[in-house]
Amino acid sequence: MKRVAILGSTGSVGVQTLSVIAAAPERFQVTALAAGRSIETLAEQVRRFSPQQVAVADEEGAAALRARIGEGIPIAVGDEGLAAVATHPADLVVAALVGAVGLRPTLAAIEAGRDVALANKEVLVMAGALVLRALKQHGGALLPVDSEHSAVFQALSGQRREDLARLVLTCSGGPFRTWSADRIAKATVEEALAHPNWDMGAKITIDSATLMNKALEIIEARWLFDVPPERIDVVIHPQSIVHSLVEFVDRSVIAQLGLPDMRVPIAVALAHPERIPLEIPSLDLAAIGRLDFEEPDRKRFPALDLAARALAGSEAAPAVLNAANEVTVARFLAGDLCLPRISEINGRVLDAHLQAHAGETVDSVDAVLAADAWAREQSAKMVQAVA
Ligand code: MG
Repeated sequence: MKRVAILGSTGSVGVQTLSVIAAAPERFQVTALAAGRSIETLAEQVRRFSPQQVAVADEEGAAALRARIGEGIPIAVGDEGLAAVATHPADLVVAALVGAVGLRPTLAAIEAGRDVALANKEVLVMAGALVLRALKQHGGALLPVDSEHSAVFQALSGQRREDLARLVLTCSGGPFRTWSADRIAKATVEEALAHPNWDMGAKITIDSATLMNKALEIIEARWLFDVPPERIDVVIHPQSIVHSLVEFVDRSVIAQLGLPDMRVPIAVALAHPERIPLEIPSLDLAAIGRLDFEEPDRKRFPALDLAARALAGSEAAPAVLNAANEVTVARFLAGDLCLPRISEINGRVLDAHLQAHAGETVDSVDAVLAADAWAREQSAKMVQAVA
């Protein structure tokens, strides 16, 4: 029986994680759940999975949850609540929060020696070097949940790391792949939220529309697989069937394929090194008929180039880029910005950071969070100036 704690249980990945667990109840026990403000959903999850510890964002939510689930299960709140769930006795912690808020609790899980299934890519984007150091020190494993990184992880299994030549991350191209720059500039929030293939949360869906998601994934891959960004390529693949590829030194390429369904990479991470049966349709290549690949258009999607710039710039630069993006995406969702401004402002905040801090290293979470806070302030100012 694998004991599982989930940070972010009511979000898209959290809900799908619990649906995989529900399909294999003999293999998993849910020991702790943390959610934000989706109290109704969390109450249902508590009734269904009987965790020993839960956490919510605030006291108001705790009172509402208590009214629904009764006495007996401890409810923790805020940052302390996230820490309580991250370090509750478990074999695996699923890190499925969205954004920078996941950094401290995920590090707390690693420091408690847990294996971590990582969906919260911002943790590695913000503090890759610190996360890797903590993993080495405390002995846990980091299992990717992101579909591209799960594909690379599976393709690398049984291979020698020194035989790896190049990673190729696939990218659906998002809803605006075939749109002109002029049309993208007029895209509505609804159009940006209509991802052609994947069912995901709002923030990551906007990141998929700007291709910022792929920039963050290049940074994530750099840390997960210890591959420099110049050996990480991106290819547009609109069908989202090939989830990513690994090229080896003999030019052999191993790809991982499957229907675009997040339950697959979630199940891979949950069951590793085993596999669990999922009741989803088989991949029918004849029915799909064709798989297309094309070069990404870096003019219409300038976000893609921000990854290498950040990684080469300073150790805090990826955190700065991520924080700027969280602000600009939120302001796009609020209707205050047009879509192209997201990457434009993200790039300007990154440049402003590098003007003062190029080449600098970071040695603590506090330093990362200081860079994050600075970037939020800068991007808010820049949004104000153009909104
Ligand atoms: Mg992905």
